[in-house]
Amino acid sequence: MNSLPVIAVVIPCYNEEAALPITAKQLLTTLQGMVENDLISSDSYILCCNDGSVDRTWKVIESLHQSDHRIKGVSLAHNRGHQYALLAGLMTVRGHCDAAISIDADLQDDVNAMIDMVKRFREGYEIVYGVRASRASDSWFKRTTARAFYTLQKKMGLDTVYDHADYRLMSNRALDILSEYGESNLFLRGIIPQIGLSTSIVTYDRHERVAGESKYPLKKMLSFSIDGITSFSSRPIRMILALGLMLLVLDVAMGIYVSIAYFGHDAIPGWTSLMLSVWFLGSITLIGLGVVGEYIGKIFVEVKHRPRYYISEYLID
Ligand code: UDP
Ligand code: MG
Repeated sequence: MNSLPVIAVVIPCYNEEAALPITAKQLLTTLQGMVENDLISSDSYILCCNDGSVDRTWKVIESLHQSDHRIKGVSLAHNRGHQYALLAGLMTVRGHCDAAISIDADLQDDVNAMIDMVKRFREGYEIVYGVRASRASDSWFKRTTARAFYTLQKKMGLDTVYDHADYRLMSNRALDILSEYGESNLFLRGIIPQIGLSTSIVTYDRHERVAGESKYPLKKMLSFSIDGITSFSSRPIRMILALGLMLLVLDVAMGIYVSIAYFGHDAIPGWTSLMLSVWFLGSITLIGLGVVGEYIGKIFVEVKHRPRYYISEYLID
């Protein structure tokens, strides 16, 4: 590489007034270190994407920008969620950097892993995933549920990088390709492995949040995981079909059994079995409808082609 790469660090921020000043300072130190070691250009910068925070986050970003112009910001008109805020940030820096690194505002991901990411990028890798070496700092509950989600996603045909959150480096070309994905149900961890290009992995230890609290309670995590699966795979529908076929075989066996009982004058009014089958078939029908409904809901959202975000303010100069 003849000239040093310009790196843009993109941070989605939702109610991060407590964490952001610490995070920005730490990231500037890391960037400065890389500049001094001739790894990156001194034009490298940080972009904070305010995801419609209801606290003083945007004020904090404004004052950080005042004190250091390497810290830039955009603000979404309202809260759209982590994935959309991140996409808005990435699409803002697209064309204004050689590579973008996305990281959460809470410094749970080790900032020093960026140095390895940049080194991999300079070796020619275009997408570098940050992967957690251990989850020791997460609670037992978070660890177990996260593990269960990854396993479920894999079984349902969704290809993601294990223990990789949204801490990753993407080249400007990877960002260009990402911009072509027009879907509204956004699940970046599923989309980015589909981009292809040469990829690499950097491992790091995950820490506690520096400040503030998690914006991902179990309910959000659950809906995130279901969204991930239904946005990328039609395997649940296939499973319903398989279940239906299995029931068909059972029905034939049941028909034979009932006929034998009937002709053998042995047919006692089978209240129990009748009730059981009514309940069982009722629940299967409902599950089937639920799964089909999930996809129809997605089609409904996609056909509207609504803009996925709208940036109301810019702090870029
Ligand atoms: N975040 C966001 N919009 C939201 C929720 C979260 O931009 O609606 C950001 C948040 O500020 C943080 C990142 O997404 O930078 C990850 O959130 P968090 O750390 O709360 O999730 P956890 O690490 O607990 O899964
Ligand atoms: Mg976090």
